[in-house]
Amino acid sequence: MQKVDVLIVGGGPGGLSASIYTARTNLKTVIIEKGLAGGELHNTAEVENYCGFTTVLGPELAQKMEEHAKHFGVEIIRDAVTSIEDGKYKTVHTESGEVYEAKAVIVGAGGTPRYLEKPGEKENWGKGVSYCATCDGFFYRQKNIAVVGGGDSAFEEGNYLTKFGKKVTLIHRSDNFRAQPILQDRFNGQENTEVLSHKVIKEIHGAEVEGVYKVELEDTNTGELSELEADGVFIFIGFIPNSHLFPDGTTLDEEGAAVTDFRCMTNVEGIFAIGDVRSQLTRQIATAVGDGATAGVAVGQYIEEHNL
Ligand code: NAP
Repeated sequence: MQKVDVLIVGGGPGGLSASIYTARTNLKTVIIEKGLAGGELHNTAEVENYCGFTTVLGPELAQKMEEHAKHFGVEIIRDAVTSIEDGKYKTVHTESGEVYEAKAVIVGAGGTPRYLEKPGEKENWGKGVSYCATCDGFFYRQKNIAVVGGGDSAFEEGNYLTKFGKKVTLIHRSDNFRAQPILQDRFNGQENTEVLSHKVIKEIHGAEVEGVYKVELEDTNTGELSELEADGVFIFIGFIPNSHLFPDGTTLDEEGAAVTDFRCMTNVEGIFAIGDVRSQLTRQIATAVGDGATAGVAVGQYIEEHNL
């Protein structure tokens, strides 16, 4: 068993940010990251809304954050956390069979957008297919945009996209919309919107060189096929926070994200949640980094207060 002061689950922007704070207060900090440090940044072509960078490539920002953390002695281990046990000291198990004992744990394990799982979706990730209107809407100025989903996210994000798109067409599999009426009214009230109900995407067609140019639709009542011109396809059919790692008894909100106090601490003492796995308003790089800073400071105080 390896003993550390702070174990951080997930090396995305939130985890890396937290690690800078804990390492700089001389707490032995280990990040367990199952993929590449920087997390979702590696799936983002250009970032244009992270303060200080007018435009930066996602992987480039990820590399800078990783280098920053390593500069202060943070150890980043490629492994996947499988469970976290509560106790005075927290016990963390990983896929490789390693066991860690930590004075505190910060979970920045992110979330997973629910995928359509249709042909052309994965192939066009980041170059026509997106799960984030705030991140990518700007790239579709005066273009045709398709939005998939009938919940709050689809209507709210779809409404945001009307600022950019020539036309925004919302595609939903029935005519029963989960979205709040106010969000539906706001979207429907825009001049450049249309709603196609009883339709599902059968395939997303990529352009010859790069990007998307059309989607193939199927009517859920009649099976009739049709096509819709679309340069961008934004998919909002739910988001799954990776909160299965929290110990039993951790309070989660209705979306499955961990509820925290102002220190980013969950109801389980010594276990903190940051970024997309934390219950909060928005899912941005900046908010994840901010959570990391909060949790990084709070962890130091927690360890000191509890004489750990
Ligand atoms: P959601 O409420 O779970 O809605 C998901 C939508 O996607 C539903 O319309 C669902 O259709 C559809 N869908 C699911 N799987 C699909 C598939 N495989 N193919 C096609 N369509 C599919 O998700 P959300 O809109 O992301 O919202 C999540 C939670 O956050 C909700 O509780 C919501 O209220 C909340 N939220 C609130 C706000 C706000 O208050 N401003 C904004 C955003 C989100 P069916 O209905 O047919 O299942």
